[in-house]
Amino acid sequence: MTPVDIDDIPRQNPCAQCGTPIPFPDWIEPGEGRVSYLWTCHACNYRFEAVAIFPHEAIKHPPLAA
Ligand SMILES: [Zn+2]
Repeated sequence: MTPVDIDDIPRQNPCAQCGTPIPFPDWIEPGEGRVSYLWTCHACNYRFEAVAIFPHEAIKHPPLAA
């Protein structure tokens, strides 16, 4: 289980259907280099998922030696 920094949670995400701001995501699913957020709109009951992609901090391809 990966702890999620509370400061990284997006807030007031507009509903994908009616545009009503949603204070907090219902569910947070941390993954490798990405975090999935499940949002539920209480105005129209629309549910949708938003994925935040984070660039890998580790360098996969180190620069070639000159
Ligand atoms: Zn909505």
